[in-house]
Amino acid sequence: MISRDRIAALRATEEDRFAELHPRSAELADKARGPLLAGVPMPWMTRWPGRFPLFFESASGARLTDVDGLEYVDLCLGDTGAMTGHGLPQVADAIAARARTGITTMLPSADAVWVGEELARRFGLPSWQLAMSATDANRFVLRFARHLTGRPRIAVMDWCYHGTVDETLAVLDGDRVVPRPGALGPQVPVAETTAVVPFNDLDALDRRLAEGDVACLLMEPALTNIGIVLPDPGYLDGVREVTRRHDVLLVIDETHTLCAGPGGATAAWGLEPDFVVVGKPIGGGIPCAAYGMSAAVADRLSGPMLGHEIDVAGVGGTLTGNALALAAIKATLSSFLREEDFAVAIPLAERFTDGVAGVIAEHGLPWHVQRLGCRAEYWFCPPPRDGAAAAAAVDEELEGLLHLWCLNRGVLLTPFHNMALFSPHHTADDVDRHTEVFGEAIRALL
Ligand code: PMP
Repeated sequence: MISRDRIAALRATEEDRFAELHPRSAELADKARGPLLAGVPMPWMTRWPGRFPLFFESASGARLTDVDGLEYVDLCLGDTGAMTGHGLPQVADAIAARARTGITTMLPSADAVWVGEELARRFGLPSWQLAMSATDANRFVLRFARHLTGRPRIAVMDWCYHGTVDETLAVLDGDRVVPRPGALGPQVPVAETTAVVPFNDLDALDRRLAEGDVACLLMEPALTNIGIVLPDPGYLDGVREVTRRHDVLLVIDETHTLCAGPGGATAAWGLEPDFVVVGKPIGGGIPCAAYGMSAAVADRLSGPMLGHEIDVAGVGGTLTGNALALAAIKATLSSFLREEDFAVAIPLAERFTDGVAGVIAEHGLPWHVQRLGCRAEYWFCPPPRDGAAAAAAVDEELEGLLHLWCLNRGVLLTPFHNMALFSPHHTADDVDRHTEVFGEAIRALL
């Protein structure tokens, strides 16, 4: 229905427009190609649309300004790292104060108590640890799960993403578990470390866990990294029943699904995980993450945690849980990501979904737009029930054009997602701006 030639022609025009609008970014990108691999400090940054990455100057609330002085409505929000909004004064004050009074000492600071209590209150799990990133937190939890069960494998959902955790970069190819397409130099033989099951398929999960070799199931309560794939009614209750029946620990990764509310989907949907992982926005942008566990798990782990060789046990890190991270989390969770913040952000995501759905319906496209809390995402297929169906509908040409079209008109979408995330700093006008620009793009395409 959408002509490839038309996509290519519009892309060429938009690329020229992008280059014209961003001379200073072009200059910096040119310089960065010398000292930085691929011209960026982190490889994902090459995934933005446009011939070179945009360099940013400042970001505040829901707005971002680039080095050419152009302002954007930021619907990416650092791919969730800034779900609170940017440049938070409360966090800035807390981290500046902490920077002057000592950042990292290998000792707990008093904020640790507040942070532990607040996370326990929000997620309903009583016992917590800090990590540096959600990836780190997931790795530590997998290690604990193997320790507790003595089982060698972990299970994940097909087309999941849980960070750069080696064993999770695996997908199904028929019945076989193979490295995820794109995973560089597979670090572990995933066919031996990992069981993979399709999302929303309880029978497949039951059959696989019955083999008795799986320590834990690590999953997002809704897939968010291959579009948003929501759980079928009753699916998550079924997952809990099946995992319990096979003595498999259930790890819920709330790094993105924190968009569902102050205690993520765990609190919003009354889930009962053995472990929960949170990361990205909880420190207002300071790198930090946390993982919580049930009382039963904490009981069994408190012995090993006090062991003399815990420093070489494969859990933790020198800068992890330091006073800066704790101060940032305390400042963030006391002023943001609260019920009252979601009460503003979620209706904005609903407005976005309504706007995009209106454009899709107007043109009779077989696409859909999905929402989870303050996160929304459109996709070029009817709603998929699992990751493989979502992956089959990826259309990089179309996605790249739409992203560049929006960027050239002052709206930033998340690279490698068609995702829009809302904070309390966004306004209805911001949402409507996207709807207008998205509508124009589709009209130009058809
Ligand atoms: N878990 C989920 C569900 C994620 O989406 C991500 C990152 N997109 C991670 C973990 C890893 O987060 P980080 O890159 O901050 O380690």
